Amino acid sequence: MKKAVITGAAGFLGSHLVKRLLDKNYKVIGIDNFSSGKGENLVELLNHQNFTFIEQDITSATVLNLDDLNGVNEIFHLASPASPKFYQKDPLGTIYVNTIGTENMLKVAKQNKAKFLFASTSEVYGDPIEHPQSEHYRGNVNTWGPRACYDESKRLGETYCYEYYHQYGVQVKIVRIFNTYSASLRNDDGRVISNFVTQALLGKDITIYGDGLQSRSFCYVDDTIDGFLKMMESKDATGEIVNIGNTNEITILELAKLVKRLTGSKSTIVFHPLPIDDPRERRPVIEKAKRLLGWEPKVDIEEGLLRTINSYRKLLKL
Ligand code: UDP
Repeated sequence: MKKAVITGAAGFLGSHLVKRLLDKNYKVIGIDNFSSGKGENLVELLNHQNFTFIEQDITSATVLNLDDLNGVNEIFHLASPASPKFYQKDPLGTIYVNTIGTENMLKVAKQNKAKFLFASTSEVYGDPIEHPQSEHYRGNVNTWGPRACYDESKRLGETYCYEYYHQYGVQVKIVRIFNTYSASLRNDDGRVISNFVTQALLGKDITIYGDGLQSRSFCYVDDTIDGFLKMMESKDATGEIVNIGNTNEITILELAKLVKRLTGSKSTIVFHPLPIDDPRERRPVIEKAKRLLGWEPKVDIEEGLLRTINSYRKLLKL
């Protein structure tokens, strides 16, 4: 039986991945310190015979001595706040988890000769000058601003992976994740889809930041997790960086209108100031994922939004 460690197991992506790996008959060790993850994401899994949960801050060196991690085959390193709302609440903690935390987990991988997947982000491209973004693009990131703690620490996390790959032969794999959503994204997450769906269902104003002409490309979580699994499986993906995202680009204004239509909401669309350094456009080039992993997303935005809307209706008891 394969043994996997997932950092950030109580988070949005982590909890989905725990379920998928248990279904694939893995032994799964989940680690989280609940900085932005939620215990309730894991409640139904805690009694699973192949799942062990450890409450632990991975920036502490004590993570190197956890007996439960011995013999691990695969490490999925997802721990980090990912919503601007959460990473901007604790900028230094965000820097530490993506740098010190990443190095600690790379040390665990090295000790155990485990494969190591690092959850990087499209934020390494910053406010991109090249569009769409392929893995070759080096980015346009501001070091001096409220997004820098996340963007720059993810970039340094990638560099840690590079060094552990070249100096120690750790089998690293880096996924650059573009905007991801699902029916179970927490509705106080602050990211655009959870905000818009919650606002539309409650009949509150739908809050667009800026003119709404900025774009994003949204990937449903099941597709994202498929990409992670294929990345971990693929020998050719060792020492590689691969974009994981959906190529269907949509402006935030179009998204607001789509959510309104799909919910049948009478909410008013209102405009608020654009946050500092908010990227103007984002769309992944996914040719590398197609070629290397045979991966591409399957769930389109309308289907994904309908799943999200149905689940939020229940969550909000509507
Ligand atoms: N956004 C918005 N209204 C909201 C939340 C977000 O207009 O209530 C905008 C935000 O300014 C950005 C886009 O939606 O341009 C995506 O924001 P999100 O926080 O979901 O992700 P990220 O900025 O990290 O791509």
